[in-house]
Amino acid sequence: MTTKASPSKRAAQLQVLAAKAATCTACELAAGRTNVVFGSGDPDADLMIVGEGPGQNEDEQGLPFVGRSGQLLDQLLEEIDLRRHDNVYIGNVVKCRPPGNRDPRPTEIDACKDYLREQLRLVDPKVVVTLGNFSSKLLLRTETGITRLRGQAYEWWGRFLVPTFHPAAALRGRASVLADMRVDFQLVADVIAGRLVYDAPEPVAAPLPREAVEAAAAAHDQLGLFG
Ligand code: SF4
Repeated sequence: MTTKASPSKRAAQLQVLAAKAATCTACELAAGRTNVVFGSGDPDADLMIVGEGPGQNEDEQGLPFVGRSGQLLDQLLEEIDLRRHDNVYIGNVVKCRPPGNRDPRPTEIDACKDYLREQLRLVDPKVVVTLGNFSSKLLLRTETGITRLRGQAYEWWGRFLVPTFHPAAALRGRASVLADMRVDFQLVADVIAGRLVYDAPEPVAAPLPREAVEAAAAAHDQLGLFG
C-alpha cells in the first residue's frame, strides 16, 4: 500500500505540473488560447470537479468555472457546506479552450489526458463530479447521456464518481435541472460524510448494463483515459 504524500508536497507537484502545462503545445488547441486553464483548488480536496474545457471567460482569466456557471457551481457547493478553495479542486478534461466552444477532439483529449490523470492521482479525492454530458460519458466510458446517468454515485477507480448536469444547462434550462443538480450534490455530501462507502477491494466497472459498457469501451478505447 502506497503512502499518500503530504498536502504541501502534492501542492508543489501540482504547481510543477501547472508550469509544464502553461507552455504546452502538445495539441492544436494551444494555437487559439489566451491562457492555459490548468485547474485550481485544494490539493487535499475530498471533491474534484471535472468539466469539459475552458470557455471564453475561463480562457481570458486562466481560471476554471468563472462567470455565471461558476457562480451557480459555487452556490451548489455552499449548499453542501463546501467552497471551491476549501476541500474542492476543479479541473477540465482539456486545459485550453476549444474554438467556438466545440467539443474537444479525441486527439486533443489524448494529448491532454496525462494532466488530468496526474491531477486525480495527486489530489486523490473521495469523490469526482463530472459536469455535463462530455466529461461524464468520457470518464464513465459510456454512450449513455447525462439525463440517464445522473442521480447515482458510481464506483470508479477506487472512489465514487457522481455525474451531473453542467451548470450552464441549469441556467438555460428548466427549474428541474437545478433541482436534479441539488440531488446529485447531496450524494456528494453523503460520500464525503461517509454515508456512502466504497468497499470494493479492486477498481470495478461502473454499474452500467453490459451492453453500455461494451459500447463505451468500443467508442472510447482510443482515448484510454483511465482504463
Ligand atoms: S489542451 Fe492540453 S495538450 Fe493541448 S495544448 Fe493545452 S495543455 Fe497541451
